[in-house]
Amino acid sequence: TAKVQVIGGGLAGTEAAWQVAQAGIPVILHEMRPIRTSPAHHSQELAELVCSNSFGAMSSDRAAGLLHEELRRLNSIIIQTADKHAVPAGGALAVDRGVFSHQLTQTLQNHPLIELRRSEVQEIPSDGIIILATGPLTSPVLAEKLQQLTGMAYMSFFDAASPIIVGDSINRDIAFLASRYDKGEAAYLNCPLNPEQYLQFRDELCRAEQAELKEFERETAKFFEGCLPIEELAQRGEDTMRYGPLKPVGLFDARLGDFRDPENKEKRPYAVVQLRQEDKQGKLWNMVGFQTNLRWGEQKRVFRFIPGLENAEFVRMGVMHRNTFINSPQLLDPTLQFKSRPTLLAAGQLIGTEGYTAAAAGGWLAGTNAARIALGLEPITLPSTMMMGALFEFISSASPKHFQPMPPNFGILPDLPVRIRNKRERYGKYRDRALADLNECQTQLNNHQKNAVILL
Ligand code: FAD
Repeated sequence: TAKVQVIGGGLAGTEAAWQVAQAGIPVILHEMRPIRTSPAHHSQELAELVCSNSFGAMSSDRAAGLLHEELRRLNSIIIQTADKHAVPAGGALAVDRGVFSHQLTQTLQNHPLIELRRSEVQEIPSDGIIILATGPLTSPVLAEKLQQLTGMAYMSFFDAASPIIVGDSINRDIAFLASRYDKGEAAYLNCPLNPEQYLQFRDELCRAEQAELKEFERETAKFFEGCLPIEELAQRGEDTMRYGPLKPVGLFDARLGDFRDPENKEKRPYAVVQLRQEDKQGKLWNMVGFQTNLRWGEQKRVFRFIPGLENAEFVRMGVMHRNTFINSPQLLDPTLQFKSRPTLLAAGQLIGTEGYTAAAAGGWLAGTNAARIALGLEPITLPSTMMMGALFEFISSASPKHFQPMPPNFGILPDLPVRIRNKRERYGKYRDRALADLNECQTQLNNHQKNAVILL
């Protein structure tokens, strides 16, 4: 059998290589450390956790916890090892990072079908079954090759993302649906501010605490020219935001009358915060122009001063940091295969999922599908009612124009057949449906392929 090659031994690559090998297919795992290192990694171990030692909330009625549980049931080596080396962390799954990564390195090195090669891959191999998993800090030489392969416009080198909010948590008595000057279909939710509200919001923004940039991120701050953080705009002058992303012109709540009518002049907003639809169903909304370096807690506190967002539920906070990722909606299928080359797959932060567990999830699917391709089986698409399936559905079908990385969250799951107002209860139902559908998917695939080597 031809060998599969996995490039990058981080969270995604480690999981992918393990799944390929467990299916009985030989695999070469290329990891550049310690020959070459990234600005954030410190060790030579596989699956190094570059920052926090937490995989997020443990409870399965939380988005991260549901993802853990799905991976647990799918025999993920990352989650098994995390469970084994968990340390007390309140309700979160956190690990002893040194032991966790060391154990994974040993486990993979000892697998008879895994060959670990310590070298920087500088070209994307032109044939064979390949999984790209080089992460947010992909080495520059390979990033350039990837850019050549995908096309200039399909690759990003930094992430200047605005917060994303659950649509249901936006107060529609205040926020109104409209496009500037009523052009085209009303595609934005608009939160109007009067002068007092605007000045108070600006004041809070100017005083809010910023997150500390890493040294290498300070060096890359030049990437952000022309894309200033909202707090920087606020500090530049009282009206700077009103001439920028909070420009009120041409935006009017039709419930108050016709904005062209001079009688209604008084009712025109002083400033407007716009939210753009993020997903196909309109369950998630992105704050336009709100890329920020504020601390996450501060973002929640300050952005809830915006009328209409007083109870906003954030699924992703704004960030501005270095992050290499491809435009997955243009390039990938939900099987994580490149549309233009089905034997090339990708996983991890590189495809625009966010966080350690999501990277492991991508590694699981890319590894499983690579093995299935090697065995002449059809690659699988996971049900979009699962957190894993929903993530891969999102990254392969979001709007390519505004594509930004996405962490696991309940906003990307399809609606339940009946609306449940209580949040905890609703999340519990999402969990029950996801795990039932995972079970069904496993049974179907097992029945369907009784003679196949690889079973889910
Ligand atoms: P990585 O884990 O980074 O793995 C990629 C691997 O590929 C690395 O081992 C790298 O050495 C290797 N590689 C790169 N180029 C090549 C090449 N050309 N040839 C061979 N090998 C190569 N997520 C969280 O959930 N929590 C956090 O606290 C967190 N903090 C972060 C802090 C920073 C500074 C950054 C940059 C990211 C952070 N993230 C965090 C996101 C985090 O990177 C991902 O969650 C996770 O590491 C992604 O896994 P991955 O496998 O895609 O990438």
